[in-house]
Amino acid sequence: MIDSFQHIGMRKRLVEVLREKGIKNEAVLTAIGDIPRHLFCFDTVFLQFSYDDKAFPIGSGQTISQPYTVAFQTELLQVKKRDKILEIGTGSGYQTAVLAQLGAKVYTIERQKALHDKSSLLLEKLNYKARCFYGDGYAGRQAFAPYDKILVTCGAPYIPEALKNQLKIGGVMVVPVGEFNGVQTMLSLVKLSETEFETVEHGAFQFVPMLNKTDTAL
Ligand code: SAH
Repeated sequence: MIDSFQHIGMRKRLVEVLREKGIKNEAVLTAIGDIPRHLFCFDTVFLQFSYDDKAFPIGSGQTISQPYTVAFQTELLQVKKRDKILEIGTGSGYQTAVLAQLGAKVYTIERQKALHDKSSLLLEKLNYKARCFYGDGYAGRQAFAPYDKILVTCGAPYIPEALKNQLKIGGVMVVPVGEFNGVQTMLSLVKLSETEFETVEHGAFQFVPMLNKTDTAL
């Protein structure tokens, strides 16, 4: 678990790249400057590139999201200290760490057992406070609802009803929606009442698909 001066230097450069690409939220940039992303790149082949603004394979056919995407989604979420946040798609745990570092209480769900096991252990070792669950994100996690914020980090074919229901009124959900294996549109939703949402579109992104129980595991 080494975090060297070289890593710290590479992170500083990454923060500048994100700033140039339009990320403005200083708390988000500080979190990215602090978190050792190389430890979340489970496939050692990609270690040397871990501070490039790119997504990488992390095993089980999944990827760690591109830092710009993590920063963009986190910015849209308008995270406040002590927000209760549900994340769908723990993956490497990197995005989870960013939310935890911002002072949120994070609940995160991953449907790939191997990834869940790895990322929950890593987050614990690095002392990021998050509750990690192995399960299906389409169902959310009713036991801890309602959430101030919900963040989906895989491409959803539609917005799951359970997630809409588990969001607080006044809460924000950020979710990329679109066809499997295609391009998704990043949406941010504010819940206005039990049945009404205000939705804003934020351009095209590419995520690994949000799979349900009947899809074969990748
Ligand atoms: N936040 C992650 C992104 C990982 S990619 C990171 O920073 O590394 C998206 C993840 O969503 C993958 O690990 C994938 O296995 C997971 N996923 C896909 N469908 C899911 C579902 N229905 N429920 C929970 N997780 C899901």
